[in-house]
Amino acid sequence: MAVGTPAGTLFIVATPIGNLADLSPRALETLKTVAAICAEDTRHTRQLLSHFGIDRPLLALHEHNEEAMSERIVERLSGGDSLALVSDAGTPLVSDPGYRVVRAARAAGLRVSPIPGACAAIAALSVAGLPSDRFTFEGFLPAKSSARRERMGRLASETRTLVFYESSHRIAESLADMRSVFGDDRIAVIARELTKMFETVLDGTLAELHAQVEADDNQRKGEFVVMVQGAGDDEEAQLIEGRRLYAKLSEHLPPSTAAKLAAEISGAPRKALYGQGGTE
Ligand code: SAM
Repeated sequence: MAVGTPAGTLFIVATPIGNLADLSPRALETLKTVAAICAEDTRHTRQLLSHFGIDRPLLALHEHNEEAMSERIVERLSGGDSLALVSDAGTPLVSDPGYRVVRAARAAGLRVSPIPGACAAIAALSVAGLPSDRFTFEGFLPAKSSARRERMGRLASETRTLVFYESSHRIAESLADMRSVFGDDRIAVIARELTKMFETVLDGTLAELHAQVEADDNQRKGEFVVMVQGAGDDEEAQLIEGRRLYAKLSEHLPPSTAAKLAAEISGAPRKALYGQGGTE
């Protein structure tokens, strides 16, 4: 750090997820006054800035150069420059780059300060009408169906509301996988294009929602947050987990051992697990 020069602050600035009027006055003020803005896609951010008449230098910061850029950013902050970090939309670091830079800045004893604002997951939860005192944010599911089902399988007995990000390419496939892993009757909510012209919030069982999305091309367009109600009571959750474990373990162990272990780990009754992926 240069002697006598106070270090700068790294501001983590949330930007709109659709409606530009959602940029907060404090975000605007910060973006106008920092020495430079670290942006995921500089062309995209340039458009946002020019809409607001802001002309600040941009530094590209994406998942491929984040490690290398962290050092440069720490140097500039240490030298007294305050910088902002934005992503393409919403809150940086939430399914977006930035955590390595924040970690590096904090490790160097520099001030990192949030300018909060839009976040698709939180906006979606706020209109879903699902239990939201406790929830689990799962971000994007894997692109391949086998890996996706595996990830969902590990969440099948989760009792908190599940929150996923999904793209238009995979929304129908993901809903189909959710039906098969969580069951047709699990309640879910799909929040699409929030704060934009075609904002839609659909709720129903996974079977109903999947059918609705399959039947209407428009419901497969845009950006999505999918929220799935958590597994029901403890007994049901234990049974789902026990069956999942039994199916996995019985690939490698005799069925009786697999059932014993699955029952012990999940708390489900051993007998209820037989016939799920094998028989004793
Ligand atoms: N950092 C962002 C945030 O705070 O929400 C998320 C970035 S992530 C790369 C982009 C994903 O967020 C999209 O694929 C979609 O799942 C979700 N998303 C972003 N904007 C949205 C919107 N307006 N409506 C619904 N989902 C949105």
